[in-house]
Amino acid sequence: MVAQVIDGKAFAANVRAQVADQVAKLKEENGITPGLAVVLVGEDPASQVYVRSKGKQTVEVGMNSYEHKLDAETSEEDLLALIDKLNNDPAVHGILVQLPLPKHLNEDLVINSIDPAKDVDGFHISNVGLLGTGQKSMVPCTPLGCLMMLRDHHGSLSGMDAVVIGRSNIVGKPMAQLLLGDSCTVTVAHSRTKDLPDVVRRADIVVAAVGRPEMVPGDWIKEGATVIDVGINRIERDGKNKLVGDVDYASAAERAGAITPVPGGVGPMTIACLLANTLTACCRANSRPEPEGLTA
Ligand code: NDP
Repeated sequence: MVAQVIDGKAFAANVRAQVADQVAKLKEENGITPGLAVVLVGEDPASQVYVRSKGKQTVEVGMNSYEHKLDAETSEEDLLALIDKLNNDPAVHGILVQLPLPKHLNEDLVINSIDPAKDVDGFHISNVGLLGTGQKSMVPCTPLGCLMMLRDHHGSLSGMDAVVIGRSNIVGKPMAQLLLGDSCTVTVAHSRTKDLPDVVRRADIVVAAVGRPEMVPGDWIKEGATVIDVGINRIERDGKNKLVGDVDYASAAERAGAITPVPGGVGPMTIACLLANTLTACCRANSRPEPEGLTA
């Protein structure tokens, strides 16, 4: 079997087009422009690239982008004061604090100081609890993007066996909750899982979110399974820098029914879902109907 490639780049462009369309309608019919505030503390080069890209795409879909760049020595008090200001600013519908934060800042405290209704990353403890209990929440962007692609490919996920490799708070755990919400039978694997190959071989859906280059070989994949590769790993091969996923793409594509490539799979969906979440937050704040197909 040669797997169908799930084109995350094209999928994300389609999500952004839907968001732009809804934003235009909100402006025209209600005079409301959704606004996303992104807070960056320090000068981490990767974070700077992400923040720039987020700001650019926010503006491209017609939303307002507010960037707050604070120096690496910013005190917790000052950061919390800025978040408080953004929480109370009616022009701001979504707030994202770029992680990781410098070591002297308490990440949990900072994230939990964001108004849950504006927490477009879905990391606030209230949103985690709402998702876990099957209630309406803000859903973390990367797992939301994975879910959208899976629903698009399969229609219903009901009754499917899903394995999520990785149990982080930002990918693995929320991914498992979302799959459970769509009535999959979910196994969450991690570094202590016994016989991981056997666990993965039983899965109709494999979501790999580990951070280890190409650790899942093709012979772990059940014939016809759908493989969603969240991993982004920079490696050097043949003297060149390369991005690879957590799955060995070449061998997995020979057995899977469908697979996301790296790059061009899950990656582009993350920012697209951030924009979708900002639109959702804006609609909720203004008692407007939520955009269809852009939430969990
Ligand atoms: P974390 O490091 O927070 O979590 C990794 C998870 O993998 C842990 O639960 C760990 O288990 C598990 N793990 C580690 N080694 C093994 C192993 N040998 N076998 C099974 N499980 C293992 O990573 P993240 O969840 O933050 O990210 C995972 C990957 O996804 C990274 O490559 C990251 O770059 C990428 N990513 C991509 C995004 C995108 O936009 N596409 C967004 C976010 C992340 P344990 O808990 O036992 O330690």
